[in-house]
This record gives sequence, C-alpha cells and structure tokens, in this order.
Amino acid sequence: MSRGKARKPTPEFERDRPNEWPQMRVGKSVCIRDHDNGRRSVTEFYGELGRFYNLRHAYDRAHELKDPYLAPHGFFRRLAHGNTGHAREFLEKFGPLVLSAGKRFTPGCHVGVSLEQFWTAHSRFCLVTNLWESRDDRARLAAALLEVYRHRQDRSPFEELPIGTKFGPPPSTNHQLYRFPWEEVDQEPEEWLHRAGLADLRNCAFYLIHLELNLHMRSRHIVWQRSWEPPKEGWRVVIWTESLWSAMWEFWGCDTASLSWRRCPHCQRLFYPKRRDQFYCKPRQQALASKREYARKLRARQKHGKKLQKRQGPRNRKEPQQ
Ligand SMILES: [Zn+2]
Repeated sequence: MSRGKARKPTPEFERDRPNEWPQMRVGKSVCIRDHDNGRRSVTEFYGELGRFYNLRHAYDRAHELKDPYLAPHGFFRRLAHGNTGHAREFLEKFGPLVLSAGKRFTPGCHVGVSLEQFWTAHSRFCLVTNLWESRDDRARLAAALLEVYRHRQDRSPFEELPIGTKFGPPPSTNHQLYRFPWEEVDQEPEEWLHRAGLADLRNCAFYLIHLELNLHMRSRHIVWQRSWEPPKEGWRVVIWTESLWSAMWEFWGCDTASLSWRRCPHCQRLFYPKRRDQFYCKPRQQALASKREYARKLRARQKHGKKLQKRQGPRNRKEPQQ
C-alpha cells in the first residue's frame, strides 16, 4: 500500500460496536463553584471524544501480558484517590466512565467530566475490590467491611443505589438494603467484627460483592452480533457495553472467577500471577522470597530438632561402661 493512502474503513458488520469505547482528549480543567453547597468548588475536565478502542481486547491483552494496568478496571484500581493527573491519564487512556447514547459514537463530540463524580466512583470501586483483596487476612477483612459500612451511602449521580442493594429475581425492580450481621443482632460493628471468625467475615464480604456485581449488571442489554470469523455467517450473543463503568465491574467479576490480581509486597504493584504460588511481580523478588522462606523453614526445623534433642538427652545418654 502506498504511503498516505486512506485506510479502508472497517465494514460496519465487522465493527465490534458493543465493546467499542472512545478515549477522551482532555483539553482543560475548570474549577467551578458548587452553588448548592456554599463555598465548595468542584473541578471539571473538558475535552472531546477521541479514538475508539476495544474494551474486550484491552481485557484480554492485560491477561495475556499478566499486567492488570493494561485493562481499565486494573488501571482504575491503581489511581491515587484525588490525584488530578491520574484522573486525566485514565480519561485519555480509557475515556469517561459514562456517556450518553448519543455522544458515545460521535468522535470529536465535546464532553465534560466532573472529577467529584469520578472520584466517588473510584472510592466505591476500591471499597468493594478491597473486600476481595483482603479475603485471606482476618484483620484486613474486618477493617474493609467497616469501611464499606461507613461509606456505603456515598454515591455519585450516576450511581443511584448504595452498596449492598438487594433486588428480587428479574424482572422485579423491588429492592431493599442489605442489613449487616451486626445490625441483625443489634450490636456495634466493631464489637461484632472483633468476635466474628474469618468464615463469617468472608460470607458477609462475598455477599456484598455478589450484590454489587449484579447491581452493575442490571442495565446491561444482550444483543446479537454477526460473527466475522470466516465464513462470516451466523450470529452470536454478546453483552452490550452501555458504560465503561459497568464494563469494569464485569471484568473485575470475571477476574474473581478465574485469575485475580495480587499486590506485590515488595513494590505494591498489582499483577496477574503466572502460577498459584507467585506472590511477587518480578521473578527476582519471587526467587529472593522463596530463598527467605526456605531459610526460615530450615531455621525452624533446626530449632525444633535442638529442642527435641534437649528433651530426649538424658534418656539417650549412654551409660558409662564398667
Ligand atoms: Zn513487585
């Protein structure tokens, strides 16, 4: 193909529209006064919608390269809460969390993103994912549950319902708020959390995660899509992505059922382990940790051996020969 020749547009049926999402070219940030809340001011980013990327390809690539930061949900989890530079980087890489149907497929369309909404969504995502990440550590899990309890009502305008909203079986729209175990027995949360075993904490945390995943699935639609693999005949069922926000919950939910990210104790980076016994992101750190673990076990064995020898000593001592 000669240079400068216009690229042939992708035929409409080959476009994966249910999974396409636009990036955002952030132009300027504006600090505006929130009149409803007196003196408080909020920052908004303004810019235009940029190139489309495929959400599912980003997710697959993150797993292929074992790097959660290549997918939107992993990158979102990594952001330092309230850091404006981080928010800008996320929007330019993965686009706004929500878009109206009219704007989504209009490249160059002007959009504004409220950072307050963005960070409220971020804190909600971190509260719930932290439950899962703390599932093997009793103290951490108790603290994570307490955080959810205290902040469950924090919501952004595109998140109408609080964490722990229970719905009846579809298509029912009746819903009620989950009651935490300490509310059921009329105890202080700290007291219940202090006494409860790990199994009870996990039950409570997993139930909340389950409710949250289903909550973000409620507005999703299932559509038929024409398959583009040869011979390009037939159709298949796909879930329509109506927002990046709901897609991130879906991806994270899929991770919990297959391969969850771990946080490296050395550098705090998230990574997808290649093996079940990989706890560090780099092979060198993993090897050093294995050596340390081996040395620790060896020391413990030697210590145990010495203790045993000491205890058996008088019995095994040989009698002096006459
Ligand atoms: Zn590391």
